[in-house]
Amino acid sequence: MKKRVDGEGIALLHDLDDCTGCYGCEAACRETWRYPYDEDWMRVLRRTPFVVDGKLRTYHVVAPVLDKCAACYAKDPNPLCVTGCPGQALRIGPLAEVVKEAEGRHCNIYTA
Ligand code: SF4
Ligand code: SF4
Repeated sequence: MKKRVDGEGIALLHDLDDCTGCYGCEAACRETWRYPYDEDWMRVLRRTPFVVDGKLRTYHVVAPVLDKCAACYAKDPNPLCVTGCPGQALRIGPLAEVVKEAEGRHCNIYTA
């Protein structure tokens, strides 16, 4: 718990506005780690469309397994899920840096 407060823990930022729901991160994670199909380390979840300011929006959320992401980040600070995201919607790093980057953005932050 102290790690999270100090911002030393690893966090994954997912920008809801920039994500197109392409499922690329899900594929990138699986191809990087080659885990079996009965496992899911990263899932893209499609949410029900709804109206925001008179415009229809469909947001997607990602569901990473953060202990896997922390180990992944320790091995490669630029994992394929992040570098290959066409919307540049993902960012992984120390929690304090990710929180700073999240300022003013419509995003989720997942912490490990
Ligand atoms: S986070 Fe990026 S790679 Fe993943 S579904 Fe969204 S746009 Fe695609
Ligand atoms: S950081 Fe690594 S383990 Fe986490 S979703 Fe991306 S590729 Fe998968």
